[in-house]
Amino acid sequence: MIDVAMRVSFRTETPIMMKNFGRARLSDYFGDSVIYRNLEPLDKRLPGLKTAGYKMGLSGEQIPRKLDAEYAKAALWFAQEAQRVRKVTAALGEVLMVGDTLLNDGRAFENMRRESGWQGACFIGSERPADPPAVEIDEQAHIYAANRWVALGDWAKWVLQQGLHLDERTVVVVDIDKTALGAKGRNDQVIDRARLQGIYRTMDSVMGRDFNRRAFEEQYNELNRARYHFLTGDNQDYLAYICLVLNTGLIKYDEMLQEIEKKSLENFEQFVRWVGYRMHSTGATEAFRQVHEAVGNSVRMGDPTPFKRFRREEFISTVEHMGHMPDDTPVEALLEEEITLTQEVCELSQWLGERGCLLLCLSDKPDEASCPTPQMAARYAPLHKTETHLIGESIRDELRALT
Ligand SMILES: [Mg+2]
Repeated sequence: MIDVAMRVSFRTETPIMMKNFGRARLSDYFGDSVIYRNLEPLDKRLPGLKTAGYKMGLSGEQIPRKLDAEYAKAALWFAQEAQRVRKVTAALGEVLMVGDTLLNDGRAFENMRRESGWQGACFIGSERPADPPAVEIDEQAHIYAANRWVALGDWAKWVLQQGLHLDERTVVVVDIDKTALGAKGRNDQVIDRARLQGIYRTMDSVMGRDFNRRAFEEQYNELNRARYHFLTGDNQDYLAYICLVLNTGLIKYDEMLQEIEKKSLENFEQFVRWVGYRMHSTGATEAFRQVHEAVGNSVRMGDPTPFKRFRREEFISTVEHMGHMPDDTPVEALLEEEITLTQEVCELSQWLGERGCLLLCLSDKPDEASCPTPQMAARYAPLHKTETHLIGESIRDELRALT
């Protein structure tokens, strides 16, 4: 998608010098201006999709995903509502996007620009410390992709050179997973590990000692590939449920592959029905029956996150991976063990906030994997209010020089 118009190298020879900047929470920078997959803002002053979907101009019942054109309509609507709520009369006319995925964040940015006609700029970060520092700038799309998060400092300078004002008329959209938290290429493997641990805990609680982890891993890795998207919908909930079913032996792996080969298994809904028939004839444990019924009901309701039990375990495992290491742990070990806040993203957000920009975190992460249920709230804070270490390189001086 990105048309490389220019490739620039910068700061050659400078090694990455990351430091621990202490502890903080996402909410220290963004407050409750956080919106997850269900498009129901955590800031209750902002109406959500359920009550205001028609005002956003959304057509269907389905919740749009980040790369869908309709997502941009919702995002722009939220930005304007947030501007109204903070009582700033200036009309929004600029959009900045900071993310880690061209396909999701880059697409959402392009859609927002097209839909609004606003000026804008997008930063896509993915650290590759073994490669020399480099950025790729797509001048036409206004997308700046860098292999160092510290390049956010240079990006801010570039954005100002493009004639953007970065003031009250600017909305800044920051991605959470692998951007503000668990920076891609630096710390994102801990996010994946926490999710996997959530899956395994769910499987343990449903299957007990019968859980075959090796088979699960093998089948999960295979079915996670793009050629099975017709069945999994590229949805981690669907995939986890399918692998659970295979692990119970209710439907055998080979049997399923044969049905796929014959093209008689065409989608996830069909798979769920197949499991239902099979349970009827062969029976199943009570624990599995509960999961199956909950998933089946959610799928019928059009819920994109049907495997609630898995997402609750993922939430617990995620917050358990935040800020749990002692403060004097070496930076490398913190990046290995903890999901950390990205210092560069936090400093940039703070600087933009001080200039009057409107800050908004938009994430495709399921709400169930990000916030506790009412019963869990006494034990766990929501993800954005959970403290963890701030790790990265400071760009504060570079930013200060720009003002
Ligand atoms: Mg992301």
